[in-house]
Amino acid sequence: MTSAFSQTVRGMRDFLPEEARKLRFIEQKARETAGLYGYDEIITPTIEYYELLAAKIGEENKKRMYVFEDLGGRKIALRPEFTASVARLVATKLQSAPKPLRLFSTGSLYRYDEPQFGRYREFWQANFELFGSAMPEADVEIISLTDSFLRRIGLRNYRFKIGHVGVLRGIFNQEGINEERQNTIMQMLDKKEWAEALKMVEKSGASQRCLDSLKNLLTTAGGDLAATAKKIREIVDEYPGAAEAAENLEEIVNLLKAGGLKAEVLLEAGFARGLEYYTGVIFEVYVPEMDIALGGGGRYDRLVEFFGGGKIPAVGVAAGMDRLLIALENQGASEFRWKPERLLIIPVDRSMIGDAFKVASMLRADELCTEIEIMGRSVTRALSDADRRGIAFAVILGPKEMREGKVVLRHMIKRKQRTIDLDDLPEKIKEEM
Ligand code: AMP
Repeated sequence: MTSAFSQTVRGMRDFLPEEARKLRFIEQKARETAGLYGYDEIITPTIEYYELLAAKIGEENKKRMYVFEDLGGRKIALRPEFTASVARLVATKLQSAPKPLRLFSTGSLYRYDEPQFGRYREFWQANFELFGSAMPEADVEIISLTDSFLRRIGLRNYRFKIGHVGVLRGIFNQEGINEERQNTIMQMLDKKEWAEALKMVEKSGASQRCLDSLKNLLTTAGGDLAATAKKIREIVDEYPGAAEAAENLEEIVNLLKAGGLKAEVLLEAGFARGLEYYTGVIFEVYVPEMDIALGGGGRYDRLVEFFGGGKIPAVGVAAGMDRLLIALENQGASEFRWKPERLLIIPVDRSMIGDAFKVASMLRADELCTEIEIMGRSVTRALSDADRRGIAFAVILGPKEMREGKVVLRHMIKRKQRTIDLDDLPEKIKEEM
């Protein structure tokens, strides 16, 4: 057999039931969080026009897109992120919807990354976007919502790394560095190639003051938010655009604390992210055991306008559900391993199959997860199979008992069984669960 019949495409994964259940648990918690914060779900296509997706995603990400021509000759790409699609929707069909607009989406994304730990070519995100407010409270809402989601899935010891692209871009703008060059420098900073970034700034004709301020910023990071924010503001004092961004950052971190955020926060002045559309605060989430980001987000005030939708400021976050799954697994989290207890109905012979379906319907109507023995096995074989598959309870149906309105309920782990009234079955099972 060729590998096409036996292997997934490189970087693609199958989710077996246990993994799929864990991923869906995380997704369910994301959906619950969206509901609690008033974010309405939208569903956008998995493929979009290449130009839309490529417009502001940054050179590095652009190179990793799955691009193809469809049979109609259109240049199409698989979505590498949600933000472009959601911003397109807001710029078009939701342009005049009342603001703020709170939107949630979830699904798979595609990037031709080099597969490695926590990095796949198909991965899953829970995505929250808030449109219409340029106020710091909108940024704080997105960060608090992220915190709430992570707490709900049972993640521990996570921390936020926060920065602001306006601080660096404010300096670059004043130094006359053009946007394209700025994007290249930001990409370098994102990859922590600081020396190269500084060299590029120097080559772009920046002043000594600029280089000194940058060097200073790149080493400014700390968990004492008020002190770090103040230090950043002082460093960029002579750059009005950057100083304004620093003040915005200070306001956001102060509000985060005033709002009761308990998670640890680290402010990092030299922090940059690869996506080009960011204009304000940016952040990522980490746990100490893993050095890859579990989620990231930020403010992008010009993307909707770029797509022709008028001036609509926005801020959002994308949580990487695959990486959250790894992190929860590492931390030994228990809730996401939860699996409903299952029951198996075993008819003693085929004359009882009709009754087996009726009893199963009755139990399912009571929200009990119920299977029917459909392999024609004897009761003994069906019970040993139930043991192997971790079934919690077996319900054995025999003609004599059924005529008297009774069934046999067997607790698989205790290996004890008793005859009970069929009408009491759901209640008795729930008592023993
Ligand atoms: P980004 O859209 O690059 O800001 O990514 C947001 C989050 O998605 C990251 O923090 C990761 O958790 C997740 N993510 C991004 N790329 C990948 C990938 N190739 N494989 C798995 N997760 C990813």
